[in-house]
Amino acid sequence: MRMWMVDPRLLCNKHLVAEHGEIHKHRHNFVKGHSIQGRISPVVQIEPLSMKQRHDDLVKEMIKRNMNHKSPYTQPDLSHYDKDLISVKVDLFVSLKDLCKRCEDCKERIKTVNCCRSSVGKMHSRYE
Ligand SMILES: [Zn+2]
Ligand SMILES: [Zn+2]
Repeated sequence: MRMWMVDPRLLCNKHLVAEHGEIHKHRHNFVKGHSIQGRISPVVQIEPLSMKQRHDDLVKEMIKRNMNHKSPYTQPDLSHYDKDLISVKVDLFVSLKDLCKRCEDCKERIKTVNCCRSSVGKMHSRYE
């Protein structure tokens, strides 16, 4: 599971759908209280506290691209986790770098939005 947390407009269709799907798919792990250590160290790959918000942001972009969405998401109860574990933040520059490395389609989108830095800044303040 990896939450990229970058502006959803920067994701290609594949990565948009994948991030949305993973948020759904891994919900039960949080409900059951499975360890998330491997997801936040050495690289923070998820933001447990932002899952519902992130899901809804991804859905908004999916609908804009005429994709179907019929799977509402409820934020899982995270009270059994340590506060420090669940309040981690994804480094958006690492996400952008990894997306560019892995995916030509995302790379094109990230390149064309050359206000990358300001959209990164916006995203940070939105989830805080
Ligand atoms: Zn959904
Ligand atoms: Zn992509």
